[in-house]
Amino acid sequence: MADDEKIEDLDTNDLKRVDISNLNHNIEIELTTTTEDDVKKSVNNQAAETDISEKYRDPGVTNISAYQLLLAKYSPYQPENCDFVKCNNRRFRKEWYVSNKWLEYSPTKNAAFCFYCRAFPHQNAEAAFITAGFKAWHKATATFASHNNSVTHKEASAKVIGLRSSFDTGSIATATNTYHKTVVIKNRSYLKCIIETLLFCARQGIAIRGHDESNSSKNKGNFLELLYLRSKDNVLLHEYFVENKNHYRYISATYTNAIFNIMAQQVLLNIINSIKEAGIFSILVDETQDLSRHEQVSFIIRLLTTQFPP
Ligand SMILES: [Zn+2]
Repeated sequence: MADDEKIEDLDTNDLKRVDISNLNHNIEIELTTTTEDDVKKSVNNQAAETDISEKYRDPGVTNISAYQLLLAKYSPYQPENCDFVKCNNRRFRKEWYVSNKWLEYSPTKNAAFCFYCRAFPHQNAEAAFITAGFKAWHKATATFASHNNSVTHKEASAKVIGLRSSFDTGSIATATNTYHKTVVIKNRSYLKCIIETLLFCARQGIAIRGHDESNSSKNKGNFLELLYLRSKDNVLLHEYFVENKNHYRYISATYTNAIFNIMAQQVLLNIINSIKEAGIFSILVDETQDLSRHEQVSFIIRLLTTQFPP
């Protein structure tokens, strides 16, 4: 695929971040790149624990779903120091939490729920443990055991275990996202190599392109030959430019001209800023014909800055 046909993972703003700091050929590139640490922070933040008020964790209060609580790394809501109100002369016993890790108690509804089935509800699951709330305390032990062995509860439990393990190992989506960001970092680093090489040619005032840039050419021009030379010491450049593993190299005239235009705009901006800072300046305009009888106009701007550069 030709270089012009594919642009992947490169933000066009990357090109606009090229900073040519002053007019004395002291030109620097500040191409902003995302570091590996930034990637790790971004991934970790996705699973960061959220502070959720106690009252919203009550399964009888439906402001926040059990799935959201699970994502925020909360466990089943198991209050121990509240008043377990009597119903038919029986009441909820906190000892039931021990043998039923999924069990939740709602103080507002005085009822028991299943955290796992609420997080991953199934249409055939027992409504008592998901929406209505279970409160037949006299047959609690047998019902809890029966629910524990139900197919729908086992399915929900497996999903909870899978989700929790993904917090540590990273989900497929997270892994894909991390890979994508790594590719972006590499692409930007490669683009920086291209810009630096172009900048070198521009500062030295040497021609960029060669008369014959084909693969069989023995002299592909300063820009490409310099990239080949740098590739001997630069693994990333070798991978992208010489091996052409990604099938795009950003070395065509379209890309190099775009980069030069941005550099030229930046130089112009720096000149304008210097004039503004100086406040007092003079302009000398001179016109003359070159050998091909084309009129050439020169603008000479003189100003004095506080740094008194030579
Ligand atoms: Zn359940």
